[in-house]
Amino acid sequence: MILPGQKTRIICTLGPASSEERTIRRMIRAGMNVARLNVSHGTLDEHLGRIERVRRQAAAEGCVVSLLLDLPGPKIRIGQLVRDPIELERDSEVILTTSMEPEDPSWIPVEYQSLPSLVGPKSTIHINDGLIRLEVIESGPSIVRTRVLVGGTVTSRKGLNVVDGVLPVDAVTARDLELIEFGLSVGINTFTLSFIERAEEIRKAREHAAALGHRINVIAKIERKGAVEHLDELMAEADGIMVARGDLGVEMPIEQVPVIQKRIIRRANEVGIPVITATQMLESMTDSPLPTRAEVTDVANAILDGTDAVMLSAETAIGSSPVECVSMMARIARAVEAERGTLGYTHLFEDQIRSGYGHEEVAVEDVVSLNVIDAVRALRPRFILTPTHTGRTPRRIARFKPDCWVLAFCRDPIVHRFLSFSYGCIPFLVETDREDWHDLIFRRIREEGLVETGDRVVLTEGISPGPVGTTNSLRIVTIE
Ligand code: PEP
Repeated sequence: MILPGQKTRIICTLGPASSEERTIRRMIRAGMNVARLNVSHGTLDEHLGRIERVRRQAAAEGCVVSLLLDLPGPKIRIGQLVRDPIELERDSEVILTTSMEPEDPSWIPVEYQSLPSLVGPKSTIHINDGLIRLEVIESGPSIVRTRVLVGGTVTSRKGLNVVDGVLPVDAVTARDLELIEFGLSVGINTFTLSFIERAEEIRKAREHAAALGHRINVIAKIERKGAVEHLDELMAEADGIMVARGDLGVEMPIEQVPVIQKRIIRRANEVGIPVITATQMLESMTDSPLPTRAEVTDVANAILDGTDAVMLSAETAIGSSPVECVSMMARIARAVEAERGTLGYTHLFEDQIRSGYGHEEVAVEDVVSLNVIDAVRALRPRFILTPTHTGRTPRRIARFKPDCWVLAFCRDPIVHRFLSFSYGCIPFLVETDREDWHDLIFRRIREEGLVETGDRVVLTEGISPGPVGTTNSLRIVTIE
């Protein structure tokens, strides 16, 4: 087994630019760990084709590539434009209509019947993550007449935000629940929920899956003011968190995004759940061969701050060079990870965890993870080996962003796939009924060619894989 060059996880949104089997193979080779399907775009049949190709290519390459279904939530979107694209000029007037068959080809259809009642004169409407801005002149029963404040090109299906508008809808929509069923029917267990604000919305999605006999991993997208305000309760309920900077930068003043991002990363690390930094990371590579210096620095800073994963959206979904975007992410990650020891900040929260900050009590896994990190720093072992039932122990170790890989061994395919979201974790699916995994793990790492006689490894142990939460010790082992 060949270990990847970087421990930061790379999530790639698949779309028309990354649908071909050959492109997917090259993206996996370049470092893609998770393929994200944004079901707001394209047909379910198109997504199904991508799912099959990812699975085939991951198996051929001998890698774990997890699938993530991003649910649209109550996001308001533009429908199919009659004339696509439409160019909007500053100070011109443009009409939004709730009819999907506009009377005039220059009108913009919007898939949200309540839009006219949500806005009034002077309300601001943003299109495409705020790139285009409109000011409302008046709204009627089915149309909204606006003036263009900031112009640009509008294409079908772009997102639309009413600044400071309260969405009078349930964040987990009936469509989201149908899409959870679709995901489960094709073997996907990890979903992102968009525009949620409260933990009960995560529970609603979980309960829906449970009623169908499934367990799911839920990643909460933080993109609304209400989500930022309820961050702690969302973190306590979610399996992972995404800093969804696209909508966040519209729903909140854009200058607050960097600070919110840093707080979310710090808090997710404290809690021990994976955190994804998303949107516009290498945006200019959507149609250019190189990123800007600012983009490279943005990716680097997110990694230094402790993000587990970085995400590519339009860059890989519709961009001109999806494979090069993944390679660029991998290159930046490698360069930054090499400097983490001197420039990283993750040590800052270690003492907080030692003293129980932010937790009702310090869990046994917290103590084990802190000791693992001390052992790694002192002894520089080849690997950290973690047999795990729920993924909690490897995740708690991964939050400290150790220099060596965490090899996580688990029996549950849902836990196995979700470990692909955690920094520096390589998950192994172990199919055994035996209670003692010790021999099995050491045989496996030998077979994979990962260790040689004399290598030192740190092993976490409990009555693994016995009852949940039994990891309570660590051992330092020299391979014989
Ligand atoms: C975002 O808003 O940053 C995001 C990731 O969500 P979407 O791509 O659905 O807009």
